[in-house]
Amino acid sequence: MLAHYGYQDASGDFFITIDTGFCNGCGDCADACPAKLFGVVEEDPNDPLRPEPVAIVAGDKRNRLKYECHSCKPTSNRPPLPCVEACKTRAIQHSW
Ligand code: SF4
Ligand code: SF4
Repeated sequence: MLAHYGYQDASGDFFITIDTGFCNGCGDCADACPAKLFGVVEEDPNDPLRPEPVAIVAGDKRNRLKYECHSCKPTSNRPPLPCVEACKTRAIQHSW
């Protein structure tokens, strides 16, 4: 299941998408994110019957991704996003 966290406004799309089919709840994204956007929860809010933990984006951050993620915004001399890089199962996509 694709879990979308974020919003769209006049300046663009600001979404983090977690493919819960690939997420194993390891928490590496939470460790890598400088803005502490991710958490790992035992019960998937989108799939309560899921047997393993899953990553989510913290509720109080979801409507602030443009600002929270600003320090990672891709430029020609900036490396790939830490969250995307940290996820070994390639479960994370960012609208950037
Ligand atoms: S790093 Fe990837 S697999 Fe691990 S908790 Fe985060 S989204 Fe899930
Ligand atoms: S882009 Fe940066 S601040 Fe935003 S979720 Fe990924 S690691 Fe965290």
